[in-house]
Amino acid sequence: MSGRDDLVKLLSNLLQIDTSNPPGNESNAAGFLRDWLSERGIKSEIVEFEKGRANLVSRIKGSGEGPSLLLLSHTDVVPADPARWKIPPFSGTVKDGYVWGRGALDMKSMVAVETMIYSEMIDRELKGDLVLAATADEEKGGSGIKHILEKALEKITANYVINEGGGEGILTKKGWLFNIQTAERGVFWYRVRTNGSPAHGSVPGLGVNAIDRMRPLLNRISEFKGVSKRVEPSWRYVESLLKMMELADEEVSINNIEILLDRLAEIDKGLGESSKAMLRVTMTPTVIQGGVKENVVPYECTLTVDCRVPPGYSKESVKRMIRDLFQGLEYELEFIQESEPTVSPVDTPLYRTIESSLLKEVPSARLEPTTMTGGTDSRYFRRIGIPAYGFQPLMIEGNYYDWSRMVHGDNERISINNLVFCYKVLKQVVESFMLK
Ligand SMILES: [Zn+2]
Repeated sequence: MSGRDDLVKLLSNLLQIDTSNPPGNESNAAGFLRDWLSERGIKSEIVEFEKGRANLVSRIKGSGEGPSLLLLSHTDVVPADPARWKIPPFSGTVKDGYVWGRGALDMKSMVAVETMIYSEMIDRELKGDLVLAATADEEKGGSGIKHILEKALEKITANYVINEGGGEGILTKKGWLFNIQTAERGVFWYRVRTNGSPAHGSVPGLGVNAIDRMRPLLNRISEFKGVSKRVEPSWRYVESLLKMMELADEEVSINNIEILLDRLAEIDKGLGESSKAMLRVTMTPTVIQGGVKENVVPYECTLTVDCRVPPGYSKESVKRMIRDLFQGLEYELEFIQESEPTVSPVDTPLYRTIESSLLKEVPSARLEPTTMTGGTDSRYFRRIGIPAYGFQPLMIEGNYYDWSRMVHGDNERISINNLVFCYKVLKQVVESFMLK
């Protein structure tokens, strides 16, 4: 690395570009990266797909003797409310060993690390193509990545992808446990509607109240507590976590998993709750709308549910599950988003390189694959048969719960130590995997 300071500066500059999505304005970040690369003699391309919204792509040709690799990231961030922050969220302030700003973790630090590593590979002899892509709109629909995949796949296609969504190291009683995201849960957002008939609010018996009709559906969702399933890849991770936290000494089984996960949640709510979500179907009511006026019996009510399912569930099985859940009730069902779970294989040369590179930095660490509870752009690649791994290596400082709440929360920041750690591990990965 040309220096730790260069990396910090690159991140700080990126954080100063407000790419809150909506509206995004990612073209500003793409333009900045293009100029940064160009100052180092590297050509890149800006692909604008809407006014103010652009992806940046660049490719270094390899000899073709080995596989190609895409370093993927997104430049947009979720909005931040400055009133809730100790330091202005778009200041990129460097203070007390931390770089502060919206996107410091999700995921401008990775944008900075990948761009830095990419720039350092320009004069090296690579076995395969190395591709850099910093895309727009990941936080709100993924129109950036979809645009490239549909209109210009040849610009970013590669045999493997490294992206966000994993790489977190937890310090347990038995050393560091890192995860690598090799799967994502399926996303099935749905809306249920109940119908009634209007009447004067003063004589409710003359109408049929649609909000009343929604109540039993809402109750069933509240009662729905998915049970943990023995699903890979995350079962092995959760099992390792429980053992390394000394919560379980012998076999973790489907019979004792719930108790163990509750115990884990008592120690660290973040670890416990995310482990539960990895292994289960979750249904979260997120939006409810009904009624038009204070004195009119509501004739329509809708409820939106964020339903996520672990690997193994198909669209058909989700539909069946919802039918069973609401059996005997009257409602209309509509899916707003349907996206089945995606999984990448773990027995690949890149996976092994990631593992060995991590072990060089942290010799006693253990690496296990996980399912991400939410979603990233990796799913689009997995669907077209390209293995994608979420691996943004970071050593979690302190409690996982506090740490995870910075992502999309307040006072997001990354320690310079972690920024450098992320760089070192990923640089090792790229060099081991790509160099002749
Ligand atoms: Zn992200």
